[in-house]
Amino acid sequence: MNDSNNTYAALFNAQKNNQYIVGNTTYRERIKTLKSLKLALEVTFKQEIRDALYNDFKKPQLETDLTEIYPVIDEINFVSQHLKSWLKPQKVDTPMALLGSSSWIKNESKGVCLIISPWNFPVNLTFGPLVSAIAAGNTVILKPSEMTPHTSKVMSKIVKAIFNTNEVALVEGEVEVSQELLKLPFNHIFFTGSPNVGKIVMEAASKHLTSVTLELGGKSPVIIDDTSNLDKAVKKIIFGKFLNAGQTCIAPDYVFVNESITSEFKSAFKKYLTEFYTENPSASDSFGRIVNQKHFNRLKGYLEDAISRNAVIELGGTLEEQDNYIEPTLVFNASEDSDLMQNEIFGPILPIKTYAKTDEVVNYINSKEKPLALYIFSKNKKTSDYIINNTRAGSTCINHNLLQFLNHNLPFGGSNNSGIGKSHGLYGFLEFTNQRSVLRQHTFGAVDLLMPPYTNFKQKIVDLTIKWF
Ligand code: NAD
Repeated sequence: MNDSNNTYAALFNAQKNNQYIVGNTTYRERIKTLKSLKLALEVTFKQEIRDALYNDFKKPQLETDLTEIYPVIDEINFVSQHLKSWLKPQKVDTPMALLGSSSWIKNESKGVCLIISPWNFPVNLTFGPLVSAIAAGNTVILKPSEMTPHTSKVMSKIVKAIFNTNEVALVEGEVEVSQELLKLPFNHIFFTGSPNVGKIVMEAASKHLTSVTLELGGKSPVIIDDTSNLDKAVKKIIFGKFLNAGQTCIAPDYVFVNESITSEFKSAFKKYLTEFYTENPSASDSFGRIVNQKHFNRLKGYLEDAISRNAVIELGGTLEEQDNYIEPTLVFNASEDSDLMQNEIFGPILPIKTYAKTDEVVNYINSKEKPLALYIFSKNKKTSDYIINNTRAGSTCINHNLLQFLNHNLPFGGSNNSGIGKSHGLYGFLEFTNQRSVLRQHTFGAVDLLMPPYTNFKQKIVDLTIKWF
């Protein structure tokens, strides 16, 4: 065991020793803590966060405010409004056979939690789950991604400014740090990242029977039928796909366009792409960069592989290696066995497929892993109902994309390969909570009559209970 392992174990033990103090705090105390985090994001560290994300991958300031800072503040506001009622013991009915007792559910903290987050929305996906974990009364170790070091540094400053390390601590470092942390017997692990690493996390968690929330990714399809308002649909898809330079877990991964509107779709795409990012998106302040050279090369490889298999680049296709820049790119005719169609793209490249009948699309989607998000652009309710009823996905947005993430009354998460468990609002709170069942016996109860020795009379009572209660 090296020094850092000892440090992580010491940190874990300090939080373990403190877990009942934190777990027994009142809703008012927890809201006070959350308000300190809100102040840090909204005021004290706001500019530092913006600068850090710009330094990490040229995230435009408006995108930082809208997709990193605002969702966490919104989560804090939502939780603060509801926490009192979530923490109240919830009385439940008593069955006849248990007369003489009363029962309730106590939402208790799980204990010491680990939150591992990705680089693509580092503030949102580190502090968002932290809000739920604090609301539920846990102590937390945070491990943000090594790929956005400037942002990790600012988040570390924020955590140090607000928390003692036996409450919340942030550990920076490479993948090895996550691997060491995963050896510890956490009470819950909340992981956001790729399905492949999700499997590693789940395997590590199984050693201690630690519960997990896995917020994963995958290929999220979009369907545009011939009844949709094409102009609006294309504008929204460009926004959803090229925000964060396509590095969004719920970004459209590929689009199915009804074959009768393909040429109108192409013209609208060209028109709005230019309107949003000009003829030269590399000079636009509204378009970010690929996070690092490794991911730039991965995406470059996807494009080269697709082209070698006869894919056609309809729009974009310019790459600037020195700046990790990939132009918003529209690809037609990508073959099914290409890297582009086999992997989550996670970048500003959008393959387009055409279809004639809705069933073709449904069958195609069902032949793949369940997507994290499935988007439908259609004015025909029968079509959208049919697609929803005959596919499975973590979430669906009709006539828009991404927005489902922003409604904290909706659970957010995937299904199987795209995720296990949910986040946001009540669902995020429950993920970090043990719903403890409590039954209090007040008076003598019927079951007390049935203790050994078992007689014929007692057998009759059991017979009557089975028949009538
Ligand atoms: P990743 O899985 O490579 O890394 C996520 C985190 O896991 C990072 O903190 C990283 O340090 C750590 N990690 C990497 N390899 C590890 C290992 N072998 N052992 C232990 N920890 C390890 O994902 P990423 O590249 O940071 O993010 C992109 C992926 O995340 C995409 O698949 C995307 O769809 C998904 N994602 C999902 C959501 C969601 O809410 N469902 C949100 C954002 C991103």
